[in-house]
Amino acid sequence: MLCMNPTGNPHPELAHAREAAARFLRYHHQSDRVYLEAEQLLSTEVSVTTPAGESDTILLTGFVDRVEQDPSGRLVAIDLKNMKTAVPTGKIPEHGQLGVYQLLLKERQSSKEVEPGIGAALVQLRVEDTAGMPKVQGQPAIDFERSPTWIEQRLGEAAEIIRNETFIPIPGEECRFCSYHSVCPTKSGTIFQPLPPADHDLVDSAAGDPHD
Ligand code: SF4
Repeated sequence: MLCMNPTGNPHPELAHAREAAARFLRYHHQSDRVYLEAEQLLSTEVSVTTPAGESDTILLTGFVDRVEQDPSGRLVAIDLKNMKTAVPTGKIPEHGQLGVYQLLLKERQSSKEVEPGIGAALVQLRVEDTAGMPKVQGQPAIDFERSPTWIEQRLGEAAEIIRNETFIPIPGEECRFCSYHSVCPTKSGTIFQPLPPADHDLVDSAAGDPHD
């Protein structure tokens, strides 16, 4: 049974899920931003310059968990997270996923002057702040008037890697969740280990080359 452990008590994950749902409801009702929509498919074309100086156009498509509007009229992309720990704060200002979400909302942003604020945020449903709300990790709104922005530069680098097919594995924290761990050349036990010589190779080698 999914929701009960062998002692008959509710599974701890069920309790965590309930707490996360309660935090989400508090967030939904108490946030100063207005909920607009959820799970909408968004797409946009982005012009980027690769590190080699070539121009490229990238079609971005994706779903954003929620789109909200702050009191000044700015749209804010929200990604709901269900992880046990929040993303390190230092990674939020250039968090790639949030940056892509800001690009997806770029064309819908109001042209009127808006207050400085966040353009996207992770809402950590399993991490509570001191007020009992889910921890909100906001990314400052990207000023797309000052192109190329950090996210456009990052996409330009990605475009160059894909066009050149030069995929160099760089070990990092992501390795823990990577689906390619077993075939990654940076990991021990990779399937690309050299094979031992076959029996007939050993025989040929011992007998010497008949054409000598
Ligand atoms: S296991 Fe290899 S391919 Fe996967 S994230 Fe780590 S370095 Fe990259």
